[in-house]
Amino acid sequence: MLKVGMIGLGAMGEGMAKNLDKAGFLNTIYNRTTEKAQDFGHKLNIHISLSVEELAKNVDVICVCVSRDTDVFEVIHALTKTIRPNTIVIDMSTVSSHTAKQAAAILAVYGVDFLDAPVSGGVEGANKGTLAMMIGGNLSVLEKVRPILEVMATRIVHIGDTGTGQATKAVNQIMAAGINQAVTEALAFAKAQHLPMEKIIDVISNGAAGNWFLQNRGLAMTNGNYPAGFKVKLHHKDLEICEEMGENVGVSLSLTTQTRLDYELLIADGFGDCDISALYHLKVK
Ligand code: NAP
Repeated sequence: MLKVGMIGLGAMGEGMAKNLDKAGFLNTIYNRTTEKAQDFGHKLNIHISLSVEELAKNVDVICVCVSRDTDVFEVIHALTKTIRPNTIVIDMSTVSSHTAKQAAAILAVYGVDFLDAPVSGGVEGANKGTLAMMIGGNLSVLEKVRPILEVMATRIVHIGDTGTGQATKAVNQIMAAGINQAVTEALAFAKAQHLPMEKIIDVISNGAAGNWFLQNRGLAMTNGNYPAGFKVKLHHKDLEICEEMGENVGVSLSLTTQTRLDYELLIADGFGDCDISALYHLKVK
């Protein structure tokens, strides 16, 4: 059985690691903040590495789920110090296509394969193992690790060459920005009319305007609760990537820009670590 190492035990990485462990794949974990890795590792009796370099020595497949492009590069550079040829690195962070291509090129020098494998489905999907995963990279490499990915995701789609997984994720993030705008604005409108929010969310969730965000975040947001799921500051980072990609291909992304600017107001108001449903706060302000 392939031995898997997991780097990054954040909101997403923790659920993914639990599912890898349940299926018997997880061998070693690393988290930058050591206490988090220790809490997790001791509960599951998993080997804890104190550095990326140490983790890379012990495993066949390395899953990465960290925050930003610069974080992915930090991890990739640390990996190159000890990684063995034929290891497979799967990056499940959301970063740019350009970063995915550069990471793959850096690792190729060491005889290491790379897949960009961003995910969608939220913390709930990570915990339940029901994520949607969009893959860029070599199909034969994907087939080698498919059984590992299947414990984290129920939908795994090979899009094309390296970087196309991240390009697909950018499409998803643009759509998520629009859905956030539509749901938060509509619910603020409902609240202003003193409509019974629970009934509103129930009936609309089951009609043509129903969607995951409304179902999973609707009620909490109308009660002023935005517990960390997908952080405002992370979606903000994604929308900057989308805007740059849009400029490169000559597509105007006005809703994306509006949402990025709204997130900047939220971050300034201290909502950066809250779930993106905190946009509701601006609509009812
Ligand atoms: P998070 O809760 O903020 O966790 C980030 C993780 O990355 C933490 O374990 C953090 O370590 C680690 N990290 C950050 N910078 C690092 C570095 N330079 N070196 C090593 N480790 C580093 O974020 P998340 O929600 O899990 O998201 C992770 C990625 O998945 C992001 O790219 C995000 O856009 C994407 N994503 C998130 C969701 C969602 O709903 N949350 C859904 C799909 C995709 P520390 O513990 O030390 O901070």
